[in-house]
Amino acid sequence: MVRGSFRRLVSQSFSIAGKWQQQQLRRLNIHEYQGAELMNKYGINVPRGVAISSVDEVKKAVRDVFPNENELVVKSQILAGGRGLGTFKSGLKGGVHVVKVDQVEEITGKMLGQILVTKQTGPQGKIVSKVYLCEKLSLVNEMYFAITLDRTTAGPIIIACSKGGTSIEDLAEKYPDMIIKVPVDVFKGITDEDAAKVVAGLDPKVADRQSAIDQVKKLYGLFCEQDCTLLEINPIAETSDHKLVAADAKLNFDDNAAFRHKDIFALRDTSQEDPREVAAAKADLNYIGLDGEIGCMVNGAGLAMATMDIIKLHGGTPANFLDVGGSASENQVVEAFKILTSDERVKAILVNIFGGIMKCDIIASGIVNAAKEVALKVPVVVRLEGTNVDQGKRILKESGMKLITADDLDDAAEKAVQAASS
Ligand code: GDP
Ligand code: MN
Repeated sequence: MVRGSFRRLVSQSFSIAGKWQQQQLRRLNIHEYQGAELMNKYGINVPRGVAISSVDEVKKAVRDVFPNENELVVKSQILAGGRGLGTFKSGLKGGVHVVKVDQVEEITGKMLGQILVTKQTGPQGKIVSKVYLCEKLSLVNEMYFAITLDRTTAGPIIIACSKGGTSIEDLAEKYPDMIIKVPVDVFKGITDEDAAKVVAGLDPKVADRQSAIDQVKKLYGLFCEQDCTLLEINPIAETSDHKLVAADAKLNFDDNAAFRHKDIFALRDTSQEDPREVAAAKADLNYIGLDGEIGCMVNGAGLAMATMDIIKLHGGTPANFLDVGGSASENQVVEAFKILTSDERVKAILVNIFGGIMKCDIIASGIVNAAKEVALKVPVVVRLEGTNVDQGKRILKESGMKLITADDLDDAAEKAVQAASS
């Protein structure tokens, strides 16, 4: 449900990177250097590069990989875009630097272990644990290329723009007429005509068009075979030697296909993810972290969405989307409640359960058991209704926990908003 609505947002507003990434961590996102390696295997042109995680590795990397280079591109590896224009919390400007070879150690030292804040990371930023050293290409032109899944055509769609380098949101605003979309028939696969349309949209100035068509087909091949949900190359660039090169890439993979791609899913870097979502994924909970102040525990995606809406209606903001589902165990409820209580943002918790398959007494026992393990620092508003509601209410009452009870969803949301602000 939530997935569907974010996808819709993507196809409507071109918000491929930005907010989506913060909210959609349940699809695998890999680092640039890992994506480059994968693309290289598919015969896609990528800059020569090597990822390192300490300054000590610089000298050897330069000797082995770049014996003849004068300049290198040093790129912070974080799972967010906009690095070029980002700023480190240390004050250093730019997460991507082009420097002389003898300055690589210095700039690497200034990036590693530091927090980089970009348009896409949120104000808390992301830690740089690796930098990617790349050969510096002489770029004559930067363009935009992406493949994603489109609801309207119910299949893959290729998006291209003859201008690139800056985010697609900015491109869509500045050059709406230069963006072309080419849907691909997923059963037929990409045709020469499709690929030629894409290349016409990219409108390379010096790159050989036939080999550009071949590159587009290879990119599409990777997208399908690896079950990508997004392959965004920004910039896809042309070099003075007439080549099309993937100079930066963001690859996302469908986690429903994880069983087919164990090697890729082993690349998950949880240090870059929202710790609340990492914990939720471990407990197999349907959870998305948001930045409001009311923690929600709800059963059913629809009810969870409605709960978030009604919180908003009463002037509050949800700290998360959480659907404990119809068949959650008491243990999952405990984990869910722990995630909510350990979240510093959360000023009040709203439990909204409409017991159907999910039984109210399971939820109640989960809450009581969680409260034994973690200190409850914020008010909890509970609205229980449906299957085993009386047992549920009794369990809560006998626990002696201080709870605010509510009769219906409206009442519950109002009380939660009030509790959060007092
Ligand atoms: P992002 O800001 O996170 O999207 O990081 P990118 O990898 O896209 O790098 C930002 C910008 O650095 C690119 O748009 C290019 O303008 C520039 N850049 C990256 N690699 C090279 C390179 O090899 N040569 C040159 N001249 N510029 C580069
Ligand atoms: Mn980029």
